[in-house]
Amino acid sequence: MNKQFHESDIARTSCEDIKKTSIVHELLGDGELDSSASTRHNILRTLIDNMPDYIYVKDTQSRFIIANIAVTRGMGAEVPDGLIGKTDFDFYSPELAARYYADEQKIFKNGSPLVNREEPVPDQEGNMRWFISTKVPLHDDQGNIIGLVGIGRDITQRKRSEEKIGMLNNELESKNKELESILYAASHDLRSPLVNIQGFSKELSISCKTIRSILDCPEDYRSSKAQIDTLLNDDIPESLGYITTSATKMDSLLSGLLKLSRLDRAQINIEPLDMNALMNNVMENVIYHAKEIGAKITVDNLPPCLGDALQINQVFSNILDNALKYLDDSRQGRIHIYCKSQATQNIYCIEDNGIGIAPEHQDRIFGIFHRLDTVAKKGEGLGLTIVKHIINKHKGKVWAESEPGKGSRFFVSLPSV
Ligand code: ADP
Repeated sequence: MNKQFHESDIARTSCEDIKKTSIVHELLGDGELDSSASTRHNILRTLIDNMPDYIYVKDTQSRFIIANIAVTRGMGAEVPDGLIGKTDFDFYSPELAARYYADEQKIFKNGSPLVNREEPVPDQEGNMRWFISTKVPLHDDQGNIIGLVGIGRDITQRKRSEEKIGMLNNELESKNKELESILYAASHDLRSPLVNIQGFSKELSISCKTIRSILDCPEDYRSSKAQIDTLLNDDIPESLGYITTSATKMDSLLSGLLKLSRLDRAQINIEPLDMNALMNNVMENVIYHAKEIGAKITVDNLPPCLGDALQINQVFSNILDNALKYLDDSRQGRIHIYCKSQATQNIYCIEDNGIGIAPEHQDRIFGIFHRLDTVAKKGEGLGLTIVKHIINKHKGKVWAESEPGKGSRFFVSLPSV
Protein backbone atom coordinates (compact mmCIF):
# COMPACT_ATOMS: atom_id res chain seq x y z
CA MET A 1 0.00 0.00 0.00
CA ASN A 2 1.24 3.51 -0.75
CA LYS A 3 2.07 5.49 2.32
CA GLN A 4 1.07 9.15 2.11
CA PHE A 5 4.12 11.18 3.10
CA HIS A 6 4.00 14.51 4.85
CA GLU A 7 6.44 17.32 5.41
CA SER A 8 6.57 16.38 9.10
CA ASP A 9 8.24 13.06 8.17
CA ILE A 10 11.39 14.98 7.27
CA ALA A 11 13.81 16.39 9.80
CA ARG A 12 14.14 20.19 9.23
CA THR A 13 17.71 21.35 8.69
CA SER A 14 19.24 24.70 7.87
CA CYS A 15 21.64 25.23 4.98
CA GLU A 16 24.55 25.68 7.39
CA ASP A 17 23.64 22.53 9.32
CA ILE A 18 23.29 20.41 6.23
CA LYS A 19 26.77 21.45 5.09
CA LYS A 20 28.07 19.79 8.25
CA THR A 21 26.41 16.44 7.43
CA SER A 22 28.50 13.44 6.44
CA ILE A 23 27.10 13.20 2.89
CA VAL A 24 28.22 16.74 2.14
CA HIS A 25 31.63 16.02 3.57
CA GLU A 26 31.75 12.94 1.47
CA LEU A 27 30.76 14.83 -1.66
CA LEU A 28 32.53 18.12 -1.15
CA GLY A 29 35.37 17.32 1.19
CA ASP A 30 35.99 18.54 4.71
CA GLY A 31 35.95 22.20 3.88
CA GLU A 32 39.68 22.50 3.30
CA LEU A 33 40.25 21.24 -0.28
CA ASP A 34 43.71 20.78 -1.71
CA SER A 35 44.29 22.64 -4.94
CA SER A 36 43.66 19.69 -7.31
CA ALA A 37 40.45 18.76 -5.45
CA SER A 38 39.43 22.41 -5.57
CA THR A 39 40.02 22.53 -9.33
CA ARG A 40 37.97 19.33 -9.80
CA HIS A 41 35.26 20.84 -7.68
CA ASN A 42 35.28 24.05 -9.73
CA ILE A 43 35.15 22.14 -13.00
CA LEU A 44 32.12 20.15 -11.82
CA ARG A 45 30.40 23.25 -10.42
CA THR A 46 30.99 25.19 -13.68
CA LEU A 47 29.71 22.23 -15.64
CA ILE A 48 26.47 21.76 -13.71
CA ASP A 49 25.77 25.48 -13.40
CA ASN A 50 26.01 25.93 -17.15
CA MET A 51 23.72 23.05 -17.99
CA PRO A 52 20.12 24.01 -18.91
CA ASP A 53 18.84 20.84 -17.16
CA TYR A 54 17.90 20.67 -13.49
CA ILE A 55 20.78 18.93 -11.68
CA TYR A 56 20.67 18.22 -7.98
CA VAL A 57 21.78 15.87 -5.25
CA LYS A 58 19.51 14.95 -2.34
CA ASP A 59 20.20 13.05 0.88
CA THR A 60 18.10 10.08 1.97
CA GLN A 61 15.61 12.46 3.57
CA SER A 62 15.09 14.08 0.17
CA ARG A 63 16.78 17.31 1.26
CA PHE A 64 18.73 19.22 -1.38
CA ILE A 65 22.49 18.90 -0.84
CA ILE A 66 23.62 20.28 -4.18
CA ALA A 67 21.56 22.25 -6.71
CA ASN A 68 22.63 23.82 -9.97
CA ILE A 69 21.50 27.26 -11.13
CA ALA A 70 18.77 25.89 -13.43
CA VAL A 71 16.96 24.01 -10.66
CA THR A 72 17.49 26.94 -8.27
CA ARG A 73 15.78 29.35 -10.66
CA GLY A 74 13.12 26.84 -11.66
CA MET A 75 12.10 26.37 -8.04
CA GLY A 76 12.10 30.08 -7.33
CA ALA A 77 15.16 30.34 -5.04
CA GLU A 78 17.63 33.21 -5.43
CA VAL A 79 20.90 31.30 -5.11
CA PRO A 80 21.73 27.55 -4.97
CA ASP A 81 22.24 27.82 -1.19
CA GLY A 82 18.58 28.89 -0.95
CA LEU A 83 17.65 25.33 -1.86
CA ILE A 84 20.17 23.50 0.31
CA GLY A 85 18.55 21.73 3.27
CA LYS A 86 15.09 22.29 1.84
CA THR A 87 12.76 19.72 0.32
CA ASP A 88 10.06 19.68 -2.33
CA PHE A 89 7.54 20.40 0.47
CA ASP A 90 9.01 23.93 0.66
CA PHE A 91 8.18 24.60 -3.01
CA TYR A 92 5.33 22.44 -4.28
CA SER A 93 1.81 21.52 -3.17
CA PRO A 94 1.74 18.91 -0.38
CA GLU A 95 0.28 16.29 -2.79
CA LEU A 96 2.96 16.79 -5.44
CA ALA A 97 5.81 16.96 -2.92
CA ALA A 98 4.52 13.79 -1.23
CA ARG A 99 4.51 12.02 -4.60
CA TYR A 100 8.14 13.04 -5.29
CA TYR A 101 9.10 12.06 -1.76
CA ALA A 102 7.46 8.62 -2.13
CA ASP A 103 9.26 8.07 -5.48
CA GLU A 104 12.60 8.95 -3.89
CA GLN A 105 12.08 6.79 -0.81
CA LYS A 106 11.36 3.88 -3.17
CA ILE A 107 14.74 4.49 -4.85
CA PHE A 108 16.49 4.46 -1.47
CA LYS A 109 14.64 1.31 -0.44
CA ASN A 110 15.01 -0.70 -3.67
CA GLY A 111 18.21 0.79 -5.02
CA SER A 112 16.75 0.96 -8.51
CA PRO A 113 16.76 4.24 -10.42
CA LEU A 114 13.76 6.09 -11.77
CA VAL A 115 14.49 6.69 -15.45
CA ASN A 116 12.92 9.16 -17.90
CA ARG A 117 9.70 9.75 -15.98
CA GLU A 118 7.62 12.37 -17.81
CA GLU A 119 5.40 14.43 -15.55
CA PRO A 120 3.69 17.80 -15.29
CA VAL A 121 5.18 20.26 -12.78
CA PRO A 122 3.79 23.73 -11.99
CA ASP A 123 6.21 26.65 -12.42
CA GLN A 124 6.49 29.70 -10.15
CA GLU A 125 3.46 31.35 -11.82
CA GLY A 126 1.41 28.18 -11.41
CA ASN A 127 1.56 27.31 -15.14
CA MET A 128 1.92 23.62 -15.88
CA ARG A 129 5.22 22.63 -17.46
CA TRP A 130 6.38 19.16 -18.44
CA PHE A 131 9.60 17.61 -17.17
CA ILE A 132 11.43 14.40 -17.90
CA SER A 133 13.27 13.24 -14.78
CA THR A 134 15.88 10.67 -14.01
CA LYS A 135 16.85 9.97 -10.41
CA VAL A 136 19.64 7.50 -9.63
CA PRO A 137 20.83 6.28 -6.21
CA LEU A 138 24.13 7.68 -4.94
CA HIS A 139 26.44 5.21 -3.13
CA ASP A 140 29.35 5.70 -0.72
CA ASP A 141 32.60 3.71 -0.91
CA GLN A 142 31.00 0.82 0.98
CA GLY A 143 28.08 0.65 -1.44
CA ASN A 144 25.55 2.17 0.96
CA ILE A 145 22.95 4.45 -0.56
CA ILE A 146 23.58 7.93 0.80
CA GLY A 147 21.27 9.93 -1.44
CA LEU A 148 20.37 10.42 -5.07
CA VAL A 149 21.41 12.41 -8.10
CA GLY A 150 18.56 13.90 -10.07
CA ILE A 151 18.44 15.30 -13.59
CA GLY A 152 15.33 17.00 -14.93
CA ARG A 153 14.76 18.46 -18.39
CA ASP A 154 12.01 20.90 -19.30
CA ILE A 155 10.18 19.26 -22.24
CA THR A 156 7.17 21.60 -22.26
CA GLN A 157 7.87 22.79 -25.81
CA ARG A 158 8.17 19.21 -27.08
CA LYS A 159 4.98 18.19 -25.26
CA ARG A 160 3.08 21.14 -26.77
CA SER A 161 4.35 20.23 -30.23
CA GLU A 162 3.33 16.60 -29.65
CA GLU A 163 -0.13 17.71 -28.51
CA LYS A 164 -0.45 19.93 -31.58
CA ILE A 165 0.69 17.12 -33.89
CA GLY A 166 -1.80 14.78 -32.16
CA MET A 167 -4.61 17.25 -32.70
CA LEU A 168 -3.62 17.83 -36.33
CA ASN A 169 -3.47 14.05 -36.85
CA ASN A 170 -6.97 13.63 -35.43
CA GLU A 171 -8.20 16.46 -37.63
CA LEU A 172 -6.54 14.88 -40.66
CA GLU A 173 -8.01 11.50 -39.83
CA SER A 174 -11.55 12.85 -39.57
CA LYS A 175 -11.01 14.96 -42.71
CA ASN A 176 -9.86 11.82 -44.51
CA LYS A 177 -12.89 9.86 -43.33
CA GLU A 178 -15.14 12.71 -44.45
CA LEU A 179 -13.44 12.82 -47.84
CA GLU A 180 -13.77 9.05 -48.19
CA SER A 181 -17.50 9.22 -47.46
CA ILE A 182 -17.93 12.15 -49.86
CA LEU A 183 -16.04 10.23 -52.53
CA TYR A 184 -18.09 7.12 -51.90
CA ALA A 185 -21.41 8.97 -51.91
CA ALA A 186 -20.44 11.09 -54.90
CA SER A 187 -19.36 8.12 -57.01
CA HIS A 188 -22.37 6.08 -55.88
CA ASP A 189 -24.86 8.88 -56.55
CA LEU A 190 -23.25 9.93 -59.81
CA ARG A 191 -23.31 6.35 -61.01
CA SER A 192 -27.08 5.88 -61.20
CA PRO A 193 -27.78 8.85 -63.56
CA LEU A 194 -24.73 7.81 -65.55
CA VAL A 195 -26.08 4.26 -65.92
CA ASN A 196 -29.38 5.79 -67.08
CA ILE A 197 -27.60 7.93 -69.66
CA GLN A 198 -25.65 4.93 -70.95
CA GLY A 199 -28.75 2.71 -71.08
CA PHE A 200 -30.99 5.24 -72.84
CA SER A 201 -28.22 6.26 -75.24
CA LYS A 202 -28.07 2.60 -76.31
CA GLU A 203 -31.87 2.65 -76.78
CA LEU A 204 -31.49 5.77 -78.93
CA SER A 205 -28.85 4.10 -81.02
CA ILE A 206 -31.10 1.03 -81.49
CA SER A 207 -33.97 3.37 -82.51
CA CYS A 208 -31.70 5.06 -85.07
CA LYS A 209 -30.65 1.68 -86.49
CA THR A 210 -34.29 0.58 -86.70
CA ILE A 211 -35.28 3.78 -88.58
CA ARG A 212 -32.30 3.31 -90.90
CA SER A 213 -33.26 -0.28 -91.72
CA ILE A 214 -36.92 0.68 -92.29
CA LEU A 215 -35.89 3.49 -94.64
CA ASP A 216 -33.44 1.20 -96.47
CA CYS A 217 -36.11 -1.33 -97.44
CA PRO A 218 -39.54 0.33 -97.41
CA GLU A 219 -41.52 -2.80 -98.43
CA ASP A 220 -44.59 -2.35 -96.32
CA TYR A 221 -45.07 1.41 -96.16
CA ARG A 222 -48.00 1.25 -93.70
CA SER A 223 -46.36 -0.88 -91.03
CA SER A 224 -43.06 0.97 -91.53
CA LYS A 225 -44.74 4.31 -90.94
CA ALA A 226 -46.48 3.02 -87.80
CA GLN A 227 -43.15 1.72 -86.49
CA ILE A 228 -41.37 5.01 -87.20
CA ASP A 229 -44.24 6.91 -85.58
CA THR A 230 -43.90 4.87 -82.36
CA LEU A 231 -40.16 5.40 -82.34
CA LEU A 232 -40.41 9.14 -82.99
CA ASN A 233 -43.41 9.83 -80.74
CA ASP A 234 -42.76 7.48 -77.81
CA ASP A 235 -39.45 5.62 -77.62
CA ILE A 236 -37.04 8.37 -78.67
CA PRO A 237 -38.68 11.19 -76.59
CA GLU A 238 -38.81 8.83 -73.61
CA SER A 239 -35.10 8.04 -73.92
CA LEU A 240 -34.26 11.73 -74.41
CA GLY A 241 -36.39 12.60 -71.38
CA TYR A 242 -34.49 10.13 -69.16
CA ILE A 243 -31.15 11.33 -70.52
CA THR A 244 -32.02 14.98 -69.84
CA THR A 245 -33.28 14.25 -66.31
CA SER A 246 -30.18 12.20 -65.54
CA ALA A 247 -27.87 14.89 -66.95
CA THR A 248 -29.68 17.52 -64.84
CA LYS A 249 -29.30 15.29 -61.76
CA MET A 250 -25.57 14.85 -62.47
CA ASP A 251 -25.22 18.59 -62.94
CA SER A 252 -26.86 19.24 -59.58
CA LEU A 253 -24.69 16.61 -57.84
CA LEU A 254 -21.52 18.07 -59.35
CA SER A 255 -22.46 21.63 -58.48
CA GLY A 256 -23.17 20.39 -54.96
CA LEU A 257 -19.66 18.95 -54.77
CA LEU A 258 -18.25 22.19 -56.11
CA LYS A 259 -20.18 24.13 -53.46
CA LEU A 260 -18.66 21.93 -50.75
CA SER A 261 -15.13 22.29 -52.07
CA ARG A 262 -15.56 26.09 -52.31
CA LEU A 263 -16.81 26.08 -48.75
CA ASP A 264 -13.72 24.16 -47.62
CA ARG A 265 -11.43 26.70 -49.25
CA ALA A 266 -13.36 29.76 -48.05
CA GLN A 267 -11.63 31.94 -45.44
CA ILE A 268 -13.43 32.19 -42.14
CA ASN A 269 -13.53 35.43 -40.26
CA ILE A 270 -14.39 34.68 -36.63
CA GLU A 271 -15.97 37.60 -34.78
CA PRO A 272 -18.58 38.17 -32.06
CA LEU A 273 -22.01 37.69 -33.64
CA ASP A 274 -25.22 39.37 -32.53
CA MET A 275 -27.40 36.28 -32.90
CA ASN A 276 -30.66 38.22 -32.57
CA ALA A 277 -29.72 40.38 -35.57
CA LEU A 278 -28.45 37.35 -37.50
CA MET A 279 -31.64 35.38 -36.84
CA ASN A 280 -33.77 38.40 -37.92
CA ASN A 281 -31.86 38.36 -41.16
CA VAL A 282 -32.40 34.61 -41.62
CA MET A 283 -36.12 35.01 -40.83
CA GLU A 284 -36.58 37.72 -43.47
CA ASN A 285 -35.91 35.15 -46.18
CA VAL A 286 -38.43 32.59 -44.93
CA ILE A 287 -41.22 34.72 -43.46
CA TYR A 288 -43.22 34.87 -46.69
CA HIS A 289 -43.07 31.11 -47.20
CA ALA A 290 -43.95 30.50 -43.52
CA LYS A 291 -47.05 32.74 -43.86
CA GLU A 292 -48.04 30.99 -47.05
CA ILE A 293 -48.13 27.59 -45.37
CA GLY A 294 -49.56 28.97 -42.10
CA ALA A 295 -46.52 28.05 -39.99
CA LYS A 296 -45.77 29.94 -36.79
CA ILE A 297 -42.13 30.75 -35.93
CA THR A 298 -41.16 32.04 -32.47
CA VAL A 299 -37.65 33.19 -31.56
CA ASP A 300 -36.37 33.70 -27.98
CA ASN A 301 -33.71 36.24 -27.09
CA LEU A 302 -30.42 34.68 -28.27
CA PRO A 303 -27.00 35.27 -26.65
CA PRO A 304 -24.08 36.26 -28.92
CA CYS A 305 -21.46 33.72 -30.03
CA LEU A 306 -18.20 33.61 -31.98
CA GLY A 307 -18.39 32.76 -35.66
CA ASP A 308 -18.20 33.83 -39.28
CA ALA A 309 -21.32 35.93 -39.98
CA LEU A 310 -21.95 34.67 -43.53
CA GLN A 311 -21.35 31.01 -42.76
CA ILE A 312 -23.38 30.96 -39.54
CA ASN A 313 -26.19 32.69 -41.41
CA GLN A 314 -26.03 29.84 -43.94
CA VAL A 315 -26.18 27.24 -41.12
CA PHE A 316 -29.35 28.64 -39.58
CA SER A 317 -30.93 29.30 -43.01
CA ASN A 318 -30.43 25.66 -44.01
CA ILE A 319 -31.83 24.29 -40.74
CA LEU A 320 -34.79 26.68 -40.76
CA ASP A 321 -35.52 25.92 -44.43
CA ASN A 322 -35.65 22.22 -43.54
CA ALA A 323 -37.82 22.85 -40.49
CA LEU A 324 -40.36 24.51 -42.82
CA LYS A 325 -39.92 21.99 -45.62
CA TYR A 326 -40.46 18.92 -43.43
CA LEU A 327 -43.50 20.16 -41.49
CA ASP A 328 -46.47 17.83 -41.21
CA ASP A 329 -49.29 18.99 -43.52
CA SER A 330 -51.91 17.53 -41.20
CA ARG A 331 -51.32 20.07 -38.37
CA GLN A 332 -50.31 23.69 -37.97
CA GLY A 333 -46.56 24.03 -38.25
CA ARG A 334 -44.75 25.41 -35.21
CA ILE A 335 -41.06 26.27 -35.08
CA HIS A 336 -39.33 27.52 -31.95
CA ILE A 337 -35.77 28.90 -31.86
CA TYR A 338 -34.03 29.20 -28.49
CA CYS A 339 -30.65 28.84 -26.81
CA LYS A 340 -29.20 27.15 -23.73
CA SER A 341 -25.96 28.75 -22.52
CA GLN A 342 -23.22 26.61 -21.01
CA ALA A 343 -19.83 27.58 -19.55
CA THR A 344 -17.98 28.23 -22.82
CA GLN A 345 -20.59 27.23 -25.39
CA ASN A 346 -24.03 28.36 -26.49
CA ILE A 347 -26.33 25.62 -27.71
CA TYR A 348 -28.84 27.03 -30.19
CA CYS A 349 -31.87 24.90 -30.97
CA ILE A 350 -34.36 24.95 -33.83
CA GLU A 351 -37.34 22.87 -32.82
CA ASP A 352 -40.18 21.91 -35.17
CA ASN A 353 -43.33 19.82 -34.91
CA GLY A 354 -42.82 18.32 -38.36
CA ILE A 355 -42.68 14.77 -39.71
CA GLY A 356 -39.65 13.82 -37.63
CA ILE A 357 -36.74 11.52 -38.50
CA ALA A 358 -36.40 7.82 -37.68
CA PRO A 359 -33.61 7.15 -35.11
CA GLU A 360 -31.47 5.18 -37.60
CA HIS A 361 -31.28 8.23 -39.90
CA GLN A 362 -30.57 10.90 -37.30
CA ASP A 363 -26.77 10.81 -37.81
CA ARG A 364 -26.85 9.88 -41.48
CA ILE A 365 -28.85 12.93 -42.58
CA PHE A 366 -25.61 14.95 -42.19
CA GLY A 367 -23.90 12.74 -44.81
CA ILE A 368 -23.61 14.06 -48.34
CA PHE A 369 -26.64 13.53 -50.62
CA HIS A 370 -28.44 11.59 -47.88
CA ARG A 371 -32.18 12.18 -48.34
CA LEU A 372 -35.12 10.40 -46.76
CA ASP A 373 -38.03 11.82 -48.73
CA THR A 374 -36.88 11.78 -52.33
CA VAL A 375 -40.32 12.07 -53.88
CA ALA A 376 -42.58 14.61 -52.12
CA LYS A 377 -40.00 17.21 -51.05
CA LYS A 378 -37.45 18.72 -53.38
CA GLY A 379 -33.82 18.99 -52.33
CA GLU A 380 -30.25 18.04 -53.13
CA GLY A 381 -29.44 16.31 -49.84
CA LEU A 382 -26.65 18.82 -49.26
CA GLY A 383 -28.13 21.34 -46.80
CA LEU A 384 -27.14 19.50 -43.63
CA THR A 385 -23.76 18.42 -45.06
CA ILE A 386 -22.96 22.10 -45.55
CA VAL A 387 -24.16 22.82 -41.99
CA LYS A 388 -21.86 20.10 -40.61
CA HIS A 389 -18.86 21.34 -42.65
CA ILE A 390 -19.30 24.91 -41.42
CA ILE A 391 -19.80 23.91 -37.80
CA ASN A 392 -16.74 21.60 -37.91
CA LYS A 393 -14.67 24.51 -39.20
CA HIS A 394 -15.89 26.54 -36.22
CA LYS A 395 -14.90 23.67 -33.88
CA GLY A 396 -18.54 23.51 -32.82
CA LYS A 397 -21.03 20.65 -32.86
CA VAL A 398 -24.31 19.95 -34.61
CA TRP A 399 -26.71 17.10 -33.93
CA ALA A 400 -30.39 16.20 -34.18
CA GLU A 401 -32.91 14.66 -31.82
CA SER A 402 -36.19 13.61 -33.31
CA GLU A 403 -39.30 11.53 -32.90
CA PRO A 404 -41.03 10.37 -36.09
CA GLY A 405 -44.51 11.86 -36.31
CA LYS A 406 -43.82 14.41 -33.56
CA GLY A 407 -40.99 16.67 -34.72
CA SER A 408 -37.28 17.36 -34.60
CA ARG A 409 -34.77 19.45 -32.71
CA PHE A 410 -31.54 20.55 -34.39
CA PHE A 411 -28.83 21.67 -31.97
CA VAL A 412 -25.86 23.86 -32.92
CA SER A 413 -23.17 24.44 -30.34
CA LEU A 414 -20.84 27.42 -30.86
CA PRO A 415 -18.29 29.14 -28.61
CA SER A 416 -19.84 31.89 -26.49
CA VAL A 417 -18.38 35.41 -26.52
P1 ADP B 1 -32.47 18.06 -48.43
O1 ADP B 1 -33.41 18.81 -47.56
O2 ADP B 1 -32.04 18.84 -49.61
O3 ADP B 1 -32.96 16.70 -48.76
P2 ADP B 1 -30.64 18.11 -46.23
O4 ADP B 1 -29.20 17.72 -46.17
O5 ADP B 1 -30.99 19.49 -45.83
O6 ADP B 1 -31.12 17.79 -47.68
O7 ADP B 1 -31.46 17.10 -45.32
C1 ADP B 1 -31.20 15.71 -45.44
C2 ADP B 1 -32.45 14.93 -45.06
O8 ADP B 1 -32.71 15.08 -43.66
C3 ADP B 1 -33.70 15.43 -45.75
O9 ADP B 1 -33.86 14.83 -47.00
C4 ADP B 1 -34.80 15.03 -44.77
O10 ADP B 1 -35.19 13.72 -45.03
C5 ADP B 1 -34.11 15.06 -43.42
N1 ADP B 1 -34.45 16.29 -42.64
C6 ADP B 1 -33.69 17.39 -42.53
N2 ADP B 1 -34.28 18.29 -41.70
C7 ADP B 1 -35.41 17.72 -41.28
C8 ADP B 1 -36.49 18.13 -40.40
N3 ADP B 1 -36.48 19.31 -39.78
N4 ADP B 1 -37.51 17.27 -40.20
C9 ADP B 1 -37.53 16.07 -40.81
N5 ADP B 1 -36.57 15.62 -41.66
C10 ADP B 1 -35.54 16.44 -41.88
